[in-house]
Amino acid sequence: MQTLANYIDGQLVAPQTGSYLENINPATGAVYSKIPDSNERDVDAAVTAAARAFPAWSGMPAEERSRYMMRVAQVIEEKLDAFAAAECDDNGKPLWLARTVDIPRAVKNLRFFATAILHTRSDLHETDGQALNYTLRRPRGVAGLISPWNLPLYLFTWKIAPAIATGNTAVGKPSEVTPMTAHLLAEACVEADLPPGVLNIVHGTGVGAGAPLVAHPNVPTISFTGGTVTGREIARTAAPMFKKYSLELGGKNPNIVFADADFDKALNESVRAAFANQGQICLCGSRLFVERSIYDRFVEQFVAAAKAMTVGDPRAADTKVGALVSKAQYNKVLSYIQLARDEGGTILCGGGRPDDLPERCRDGYFISPTVITGLDHLCRVNQEEIFGPVVSIMPFDSDDSVIEMANSTPYGLSASIWTQNLMRAHRVAEQLAAGTVWINCWLLRDLRVPFGGVKQSGVGREGGDEALRFFTEPKNVCVAK
Ligand code: NDP
Repeated sequence: MQTLANYIDGQLVAPQTGSYLENINPATGAVYSKIPDSNERDVDAAVTAAARAFPAWSGMPAEERSRYMMRVAQVIEEKLDAFAAAECDDNGKPLWLARTVDIPRAVKNLRFFATAILHTRSDLHETDGQALNYTLRRPRGVAGLISPWNLPLYLFTWKIAPAIATGNTAVGKPSEVTPMTAHLLAEACVEADLPPGVLNIVHGTGVGAGAPLVAHPNVPTISFTGGTVTGREIARTAAPMFKKYSLELGGKNPNIVFADADFDKALNESVRAAFANQGQICLCGSRLFVERSIYDRFVEQFVAAAKAMTVGDPRAADTKVGALVSKAQYNKVLSYIQLARDEGGTILCGGGRPDDLPERCRDGYFISPTVITGLDHLCRVNQEEIFGPVVSIMPFDSDDSVIEMANSTPYGLSASIWTQNLMRAHRVAEQLAAGTVWINCWLLRDLRVPFGGVKQSGVGREGGDEALRFFTEPKNVCVAK
C-alpha cells in the first residue's frame, strides 16, 4: 500500500507526528493508501520553508518564475494518465472525466497564470499637474491555500498558480479525502526543479493541518475553497488577525428554463448541470425551474435522460455517474433524499443505490441520478446544499416569480438561464443574485473573468486579474512634479 508524504522545502517527508490516515477508494470502499496526519509542527516547518524561499522567488524575474511553472505543467501533462487514474481512484469520478476535464484544466491553470504575469500593466495617475502617482503591486509573502475534494487538482492549482506566479510562496492543504493528485503534484514539482520552499504541501485533516495554517502568524493571505460552515470558521480566525482572505463557498444554483428555450439543448445541458461529477460541483444546477407550459414534457424527458445514465465503475469507459466521494457524503445525500420524502416530494427516479453494480463496486458509495418534484422552493431540500446527484424540479409562471424563487436561498454562486429572448435573458441575468450567470450554457469557463459568489457563497473574487490582485499588495508612490 502506498504511503504518501508531505512536500516541504523541496523534499518529500514523513509527518512529524509519525501518524497516518487511511485513504479510501470510494468506488470499492477499500483503503488503498495512507496519508500523513500532519499537525501544527508540520505546518510550521512548511511555513518556515516558504518564508525562507520568499525573498529569492519574489525577486526573480517574472519570466523565470513563468518558466518553472510551465515545466511543472509540462510534467503533469506528460503524466496525464497517472494523474487521471489517481483522481478517479481518490474521488470516484469517471476516469474519462478526470482525463479530459479535471487534469487538463489543472494544466491550464498553471499555464494561464504563468503567462498572465508576462503581460501585466501598472497604473499611473497624474494629479492636476502637481504629482505623478504610480502603483506598485508586490507579493504578500506566504499564502495559505486550502482546497476541497470535488475537483481536487483543478481547485488546488487554481490557488497555487496565481499565488506563486505573482511571487508569493505557498503552503497548500488539500482535502484529506482526495490527497493523491496533490502528492503527484509534489513529485512533479521535484521533477521540474521548482526551487525548494516555493510550494509546500501538508496533508492532514482540516482541524489538524488546515486550522493551524489559517492561524499561523506568518501566513498573511488565505485562499479557501470549501463549505460555507468551514468558511465561517476560517473567517473567525483570519479576520481578527487582519489577514487578507478569499472564501469560495457552497452553492444552491438555480437553472431556469423558459418555454421559448431551445428545448433539446436546455434539456441536455440541464441534465449535465444536475449530475456532472455526481452532482458534486459547487456550480451544479441543483434547483431546476421550468416554465409551466413546457413543464410536463420537460420533466418526462429529463427523467428519461437521468434513467439512461450509466451508474457504475468509474474506471469503465461507459460510466456517466461514478461513486460519491466518501461514505459520509453518501449518507448525507441519502438523508436529504429521505428529507425530500418527508417534506412531501415525489422521487421520480433514483433515490438510492443502483442494484446492478459490478462486483468490484459492491461496497462503493453509489447513488443513481435522483429527480424530485412537488417541493416548495422554501423547503430545506431546496434551500440547503446537498452536493450529490439530486435535482429538484419546480414549475414557474412568470419572470418575476422565478427570479424571486431563484434568489430565495442564502447562496449566490451561479445561475443558468435558457431562453431565445435576448432582452429577457439580460433582464433576468441582472436580477439574479449570483456571481456568475450563464445564458444558454453551463460551466463555460474563461479563466480571465472574476469568479466567486455573493451572499453565503463567498467573499472576494478569484480568476484572471482579480486573482493577480488578490495575491499582491498595492503600494502607491506619489512623486511631486
Ligand atoms: P470543507 O469545507 O469540508 O473542506 C474544504 C477544505 O477545508 C478541506 O481541505 C478541509 O480539510 C479543510 N478544512 C476543514 N475544516 C477546516 C478548518 N477548521 N480550518 C481549515 N481548513 C479546514 O468542504 P468539502 O471538502 O466538503 O468540499 C465541498 C464544499 O466545497 C461544498 O460546499 C462546495 O460547494 C464547496 N465548493 C465551492 C467551490 C467554489 O468555487 N465556490 C468550488 C468547489 C467546492 P479536510 O477535507 O481534511 O477536512
